[in-house]
Amino acid sequence: MLTDSYGRVATDLRVSLTDRCNLRCAYCMPPEGLDWLPTPEVLTGDEVVRLVRIGVESLGIREVRFTGGEPLLRRDLAEIVAATAGLSPRPEISLTTNGIGLDRRAAALRAAGLDRINVSLDTLRPEVFRKLTHRDRLDDVLAGLAAAAAAGLSPVKINAVLMRDLNDDEAPQLLRYCISHWYELRFIEQMPLDAQHGWKRTEMVTAAEIFESLSAQFSLSDDTERSRGAAPAETFLVDGGPARVGVIGAVTRPFCGACDRVRLTADGQIRNCLFARSESDLRTLLRSGAPDSEIAERWRAAVAAKLPGHGINDPTFLQPDRPMSAIGG
Ligand code: SAM
Repeated sequence: MLTDSYGRVATDLRVSLTDRCNLRCAYCMPPEGLDWLPTPEVLTGDEVVRLVRIGVESLGIREVRFTGGEPLLRRDLAEIVAATAGLSPRPEISLTTNGIGLDRRAAALRAAGLDRINVSLDTLRPEVFRKLTHRDRLDDVLAGLAAAAAAGLSPVKINAVLMRDLNDDEAPQLLRYCISHWYELRFIEQMPLDAQHGWKRTEMVTAAEIFESLSAQFSLSDDTERSRGAAPAETFLVDGGPARVGVIGAVTRPFCGACDRVRLTADGQIRNCLFARSESDLRTLLRSGAPDSEIAERWRAAVAAKLPGHGINDPTFLQPDRPMSAIGG
């Protein structure tokens, strides 16, 4: 098992399949994009599947989430999902995506074994979408969402980040839209993970503000039916249910004590936390012909060294060198 010295067990593996993205969300990267990883440094599909297999067969991984960058940019995504679905014990398989191109691929991904999906959608206003992402693709995202639901990937979850003076007035409209489409909405507090290092605590839209803005139009009550466990979102019943909304207060309401996640970057590095200052290199081991046991040992050591918390609220906090797009959100 992947245990750390604070008694937590990592069972949820987040796999970044690429650091590239076709959007330029302001809270993530600059409009001009970033210097992407050179292709030879990115794990091949077979390499990803081998590491996932070691995680599942030898290290107790029970849930695998593919992310990025934008994972739909990987042409071999369905093959990677299918190979993961063939592992024993079969892990739960999910995908975090911006939804662009999902309308053409949702059914094939479902058939390959994808169980669940999270689609990022921060606004329903085309002009705000353009400002926030620097691309005019809102209709593609909405089409992707509809295709995911039609393919049986329900309940489709939506991730939304609110930014001051851009879309911070849109929480109720987003919730109304999601309820009417049977999507489950979760707001994520903006974290200091942008490549531009422009995050400011004073400008961040907090979980408390989101709650207040929703409460003006909806009645939110504690979701007693669903235990939170290691889930990052606190969920609430909307107007008595069954509709729900989640708030991920990663900065103001940290949940590190219950964290069960470990991350594999697109270039084969293990990160024991989004905010880790160091990584463990599995790619070099993998490419030097190391046996599974040696790779598993390095992976175990990486998780064992996990710190008790992300430290964002400590005076000594330093933002990690890699931005969210290169870590895998
Ligand atoms: N491209 C995919 C997508 O858009 O969902 C997957 C990768 S993206 C990094 C994963 C999630 O991280 C998205 O929901 C995005 O909104 C969120 N995210 C990115 N940067 C963030 C930040 N600085 N703070 C909070 N969430 C962030």
